[in-house]
Amino acid sequence: MPAAAKRPLIVPVFLPQAGCPHRCAFCNQNAITGIAAFPDPASIQAAITSGLRFRSRKRAATQIAFYGGNFLGLAVERIRRLLDLATIFVDQGLVDGIRFSTRPDTIDAARLDLLAGYPVAAIEIGVQSMHAAVLRACRRGHTPEDSRRAARRIKARGYLLGVQMMVGLPDDTAQRSFASGLEIAAMEPDFVRIYPTLVFRGSRLAKWFETGAYTPLGLEAAVRQVKHLCLLFGRQNIPVIRMGLQASAQLDARTDLVAGPYHPAFGHLVWEEIFLDMVRHVLASGKIPETDIELRVHPRSVSRLRGYKNRNTQTIMRAIAPGNLTMLPDESLDTEAVVVNGQYCRPADLDILSERSSGPQMPFLKNCSESV
Ligand code: SF4
Repeated sequence: MPAAAKRPLIVPVFLPQAGCPHRCAFCNQNAITGIAAFPDPASIQAAITSGLRFRSRKRAATQIAFYGGNFLGLAVERIRRLLDLATIFVDQGLVDGIRFSTRPDTIDAARLDLLAGYPVAAIEIGVQSMHAAVLRACRRGHTPEDSRRAARRIKARGYLLGVQMMVGLPDDTAQRSFASGLEIAAMEPDFVRIYPTLVFRGSRLAKWFETGAYTPLGLEAAVRQVKHLCLLFGRQNIPVIRMGLQASAQLDARTDLVAGPYHPAFGHLVWEEIFLDMVRHVLASGKIPETDIELRVHPRSVSRLRGYKNRNTQTIMRAIAPGNLTMLPDESLDTEAVVVNGQYCRPADLDILSERSSGPQMPFLKNCSESV
């Protein structure tokens, strides 16, 4: 996995569904962001000023981010006004740059020309899936080729490329989402976000859920799929900067969340699984003859190793019984490693193919195992 580089502080400004040509089947940005309407300039300035309170030296940079809509789908004048407003903060030295999320089919030469002269650092595209049937089922209105082309254009202009993808979409499968991950990795993005599909009130997906036409992934299956993608991107040195939606009081209250694998610490659940897999990997290697086991991890990874309510601890204790288990924090280790009785293991040591062998058969993997 890539080294944990300092990440920028993101100061988000939510523009719910602004600039979208239609509403994708899974989307209800008002429910996700908790924002009901397009904010006026005063509210945007207030949101940025409020977000700047979290600036710290621990962060590499501070960026204003326009999220929750299709930024380059907005009217040209509106794009300019938002960029002008954000640039004032950059000119004042309070912010280092701008980023935004947009649909892949908005990335064309004319729209990219609009950005010239503005301090835009990164562009995030909502790819969601690289499978044409899944995109059609979601009513996305763009193709996998749109995403490939957008990625090439963004990189050619020198912007950092972020890619957002989802698992558990209508017509999606574990195989299709993993194949999407392989295609996304081939775009060489600078970072990736992975979201399990949730069912929000007011979305087309909610209607399909009510009629039984759509069934969301369970939490366990969603964690497993995202884990495999996380390992895949890690193998390619592509940072996964978010797994699962940011927790919020609104999501936790489930006011607008009808169904789906929401967990306030979804990314932590994924990492717990990876740490358990690493311990199992070493134990299964036959290199540890003793039954008394000592595990060492960086202090910041102790909770990932122990797992939610100590479930990893209990699983490992059952596996080594009647041996004893000791867990020790060790600051000399990197945060993604575990040492089992002196045997080092990192996520890159896990065999994604065998990790996946307990799931459904994946015939396509025969063709792409080299890139995994
Ligand atoms: S998913 Fe993105 S493009 Fe689709 S409606 Fe929501 S904000 Fe717009």
